[in-house]
Amino acid sequence: MAIEKTFIMIKPDAVRDRKIGEIVARIERSGLVIERMEMTTLERATVEEHYAHLADKPFFGGLCDFMTSGPVVKMVVSGLSAVAKMRTLMGATNPLDAAPGTIRGDFAVDVNANVIHGSDCLENAEIEIKRFFG
Ligand code: UDP
Repeated sequence: MAIEKTFIMIKPDAVRDRKIGEIVARIERSGLVIERMEMTTLERATVEEHYAHLADKPFFGGLCDFMTSGPVVKMVVSGLSAVAKMRTLMGATNPLDAAPGTIRGDFAVDVNANVIHGSDCLENAEIEIKRFFG
């Protein structure tokens, strides 16, 4: 296992629902370290680039609307196997499949507004950290 950095974002639904504290607490309790954290409202162009792999999906426009609908909290999280560990903490993309005890399993009700983003591999983590933190 190696020390990794991953990119995490608390999405606008969770910020609106005042879940920032609970999500940050879960990340810290897991032993991972929050290295950078900032609240910001995303530009649509940034969201379109971030989700470019989904551009042909019928939900793409709605996803971009949702992700720009209010502030997000973006983070760089580091630790042993941080990428995979955060994906485990987050739970499945669709909250219906996300296990109880995971962030999505406990806080998300809708696949379109599923509370949190986390990089899916180390390569994308590096790209996303650059994209969102420069
Ligand atoms: N998404 C959606 N509808 C779907 C599937 C995905 O709105 O049917 C959104 C959801 O917010 C998800 C994001 O698109 O988190 C990116 O999807 P991806 O498959 O990359 O999953 P993730 O890596 O976020 O678990």
